[in-house]
Amino acid sequence: MNYVGRFAPSPSGPLHAGSLATALASWLDARAQGGRWLLRIEDVDTPRTVPGAAQVIMGQLQALGLLWDGDIIWQSRRGDAYQAAFDSLAAQGLIYGCGCTRREIADSALRGQTAPGADGERPYPGTCRHGLPEGRQARAWRLRVPDGVERFEDRWLGPQEQDVAQAVGDFALRRADGLWAYQLAVVVDDAAQGVTDVVRGADLLSSTARQRVLGRLLGLPDLRYMHVPLILDPASGLKLSKQNGAPPIDTGAPLQALEAAWSALGFTPLSADGIAPFLSEATSRWAARFPR
Ligand code: GLU
Repeated sequence: MNYVGRFAPSPSGPLHAGSLATALASWLDARAQGGRWLLRIEDVDTPRTVPGAAQVIMGQLQALGLLWDGDIIWQSRRGDAYQAAFDSLAAQGLIYGCGCTRREIADSALRGQTAPGADGERPYPGTCRHGLPEGRQARAWRLRVPDGVERFEDRWLGPQEQDVAQAVGDFALRRADGLWAYQLAVVVDDAAQGVTDVVRGADLLSSTARQRVLGRLLGLPDLRYMHVPLILDPASGLKLSKQNGAPPIDTGAPLQALEAAWSALGFTPLSADGIAPFLSEATSRWAARFPR
């Protein structure tokens, strides 16, 4: 079986316990299936990119024995590919310019024109779908989302569905600040890298239906998905993140870091005396739990 997985960190800081658990899950799934595991640096959101963070992440992965295959893709260098995908959608009449400000979208939500979606986000009410209001200029460029419910099987969470038009509405592919949207970049890059399997944190579950719609409109192959549980901060109950101060992984104690990530994924402890035996044992256990 052809399996290509990937880890796609945004370089806004070093790996912490949460992002390591995601990296470990995706590495184990690829190795358990005898597949390739690619690394993609998601620095498309340049204002959020921290200089040097990508190199720190690479060093952390290497220290933990989570070695990737092949060349690294940097999203900041992939503008031409995103433009080509955008142009092909535009040629199908699937893109329109939107003049709404964030404020206007929030206000129309307050006036009750839209109901909050699953993650509390308000769907875009479609204000500019049939043309820009007089005197307005396009700020962002949105996808005309087709009607219908998107369904897929998540290998961890089971059957999933979302009505993207209703829950999210027409989403931006090119943002008002001129940057390519994550949703477009990820879909174009997964296809360009030949990815077959996406293993990532459950915080991205609500993006998956959007990405599948986009992939289909671009004529790209279907992917398999697994969204692994997020690690919560025991004190606040919030998702561990750089924003709320999660400490970087201590690469001076790589086995402990791997063991903690393994338990956080819900597995019972392994008794290994080094990172190589740990990873090999964890790969067998993963293969037994998620057979081909
Ligand atoms: N860059 C995203 C993040 O760090 C992950 C995107 C993905 O795995 O699809 O949260």
